[in-house]
Amino acid sequence: MERNRLTIFDTTLRDGEQSPGCSMRLDEKLRMARQLDRLGVDVIEAGFPIASDGDFEAVQAVAQEVRRPRIAGLARAGYEDIERAWQAVRHAEHPRIHVFLATSDIHLHYKLRMTREQCLQRAAEAVRLARSLCADVEFSPEDATRTEVEFLCDVTQAVVEAGATTVNIPDTVGYTVPREMYRIIEAVCGRVRNHRDVTISVHCHNDLGLAVANSIAGIEAGARQVECTVNGIGERAGNASLEEIVMAMRVRSDQMPYDTGIQGEQLYPSSCLLTEITGAFVQPNKAVVGRNAFAHEAGIHQDGVIKNPLTYEIMTPQSVGVPESKLVLGKHSGRHALGLKCQKLGYEFSRRDLDRIYKRFVALADQIKVVEDRHLLAIIQEEMPALAALKEMAKSHSVPSPLGTA
Ligand code: MN
Repeated sequence: MERNRLTIFDTTLRDGEQSPGCSMRLDEKLRMARQLDRLGVDVIEAGFPIASDGDFEAVQAVAQEVRRPRIAGLARAGYEDIERAWQAVRHAEHPRIHVFLATSDIHLHYKLRMTREQCLQRAAEAVRLARSLCADVEFSPEDATRTEVEFLCDVTQAVVEAGATTVNIPDTVGYTVPREMYRIIEAVCGRVRNHRDVTISVHCHNDLGLAVANSIAGIEAGARQVECTVNGIGERAGNASLEEIVMAMRVRSDQMPYDTGIQGEQLYPSSCLLTEITGAFVQPNKAVVGRNAFAHEAGIHQDGVIKNPLTYEIMTPQSVGVPESKLVLGKHSGRHALGLKCQKLGYEFSRRDLDRIYKRFVALADQIKVVEDRHLLAIIQEEMPALAALKEMAKSHSVPSPLGTA
């Protein structure tokens, strides 16, 4: 199977920060951008420079300091925006201007009050202007997935002829489904087949929970850049999650012959840093980086994971930078996990003694759901005299009992 290198375009600092409550100051963007560099993303979209002076300065600071990745600035298809975006990214080692213009009839009619013909011309003009400033220009036909495919292909061809080096197909409103996305990308790629140096990209939103699936469908149809965010933050229900796309490709590399430059061990640290900066917690059951992603409570699962993690884990926590699997002690937990936890706390019990602790533990778990170390220690302390008495009794009957505190 021939393998392909995918470009990971991170938009945590642009689309991501557009999610309610997630806007970031200059110093916060810089901290996150340094981490994205460590993570190994290929492109950092650092912001929307025309939006505010603060964002302009933040994009400029990222462009000046973070030298390895491409640094992109977003612009609407007009002179002022494009000029401002260029001023913000021009000192980057690898600058990119990202121009967008809506192409769907609903956006053209109600939002832009523009005909398709005017849209086509405006898009091409904007790209020509951006190309006169910067060698690396990306164009996005906003609301692409609700644009008639034939017109979307016309726009793509026009902007490529005007000099766009990447054409990104955004599912702006999270409306598409995998099979439809496949067909759209297939059609767009078909139209620019003769332009070998042009990259087709996907940018999916998660309104129906399909952002990652739609992104993968687009990649399978020929897209070679994928736009995503750490923790899947972004407008409304968010963007395709970077960690999910990367780990899906890695865990199922037999099905998906795509490589990225991402350092897996930096995924969890990136997630944590973003949470720290924005205060937006990830849901506990979030794939890859959620608190429960590597936690096991059910006894059967715990027993399996203790014997061999591969029984219930398709990737190791270490591979994504999570320190270790967590055995959560709740009412579904079994003796095997409880015994292991006791050992970690410094106590090794015989089967019979463990049974005693186990009964107390299950009764408590019924009440408080999750039994923490301190609760377990309290049970052990309380049971110690009884266990010692049992031991004495056993000794006087000369039956060896391996009670001991390690
Ligand atoms: Mn978006």
